[in-house]
Amino acid sequence: MASTKKSSPRVALVTGGNRGIGFEVCKALAAKGLSVVLGARNRELGDAAANVLGVKAVWLDVTHRSSVEAVMKAIGPVDVLVNNAGVYPAGTVLDAKGDAWRAAFETNFFGALSLCRAFVPAMMDRGYGRVVNVSSGYGSFAEGLDGPAPYSLSKALLNALTLKLSSEVRGDVKVNSACPGWVKTRMGGPGADVSAEDAADTIVWLATLPASGPSGGFFRRRKRIAW
Ligand code: NAP
Repeated sequence: MASTKKSSPRVALVTGGNRGIGFEVCKALAAKGLSVVLGARNRELGDAAANVLGVKAVWLDVTHRSSVEAVMKAIGPVDVLVNNAGVYPAGTVLDAKGDAWRAAFETNFFGALSLCRAFVPAMMDRGYGRVVNVSSGYGSFAEGLDGPAPYSLSKALLNALTLKLSSEVRGDVKVNSACPGWVKTRMGGPGADVSAEDAADTIVWLATLPASGPSGGFFRRRKRIAW
C-alpha cells in the first residue's frame, strides 16, 4: 500500500514579528503552509500578534545572547530564518551619539549575526535552509549609503554578512538580503509609498526559493540590485 505520510511543514523563525514588515512576513509564510515562529522582544506584544495569526510566539530579543539560546532550545532547528528586527537611530558620522551607534550595530548587525550563528549550522547539517536578511537601500554603496549614518553603516555590514555567509554555507542553504523599499510602518512613517504587505513579498519569495534560486544577492521587488 502506498504511504500517505505527509512531510512536516518547513519551520520559519521571523525576528521582530510582532508588527510592521515582520508581522506581514509571518502572515504570508503561514498562509503558504509554513510553521511560523514569531519572535518578539516584548512577550505580550508577541503573544497578541501570534494569536491574531494563529502561529507560535517566542520571546526573542536579538541583542540578548541568553534570549537567542533560549529560543534555540525551545524550538530546535529551523528551515527558514528571517532577520527582520531592526532599529533606525539618527545622526551623521560626526554627530550621532554612542548609544545610536551601539543600538544600530547591536540590533541590525550583531543581532542578525547571532541568529545566523545559532541556526545556520543545523541548516547545513540538514542540507536545507533559507536565510533572509532584511536590509535597506541605505546599506548599498551603489546607492550612496544614504540615510542616517548608524543605520546605513549597520545595514551595509548586514549586506556584507549576507555575502560572506553565503560563501561559507554548504548544501541547499541560501543566504540573501532584501530591501523592502520605503514602507508604511512605525519605522517608515505614514508618508511611505509601500505597504507592509507588499514589502513582505520579496522577503517571502527569498524565504521560499527553490533549489535553483539565487544565493548571496541583494533584492528589491524580486529583482537583484547592486550592493
Ligand atoms: P518597525 O515597524 O519599527 O518594526 C521593527 C520591529 O523590530 C519591531 O517588531 C521591533 O520590536 C523589532 N525589534 C527592534 N529591536 C529588536 C530587538 N533587539 N530584538 C527583537 N526585535 C526587535 O519597522 P519595519 O519597518 O517593520 O522594519 C522591519 C525591517 O525592515 C527592519 O530591519 C528595517 O530596518 C527594514 N526596513 C524598513 C524600511 C521602512 O521603510 N520601513 C525600509 C528599509 C528597510 P518592538 O515592537 O518591541 O519595538
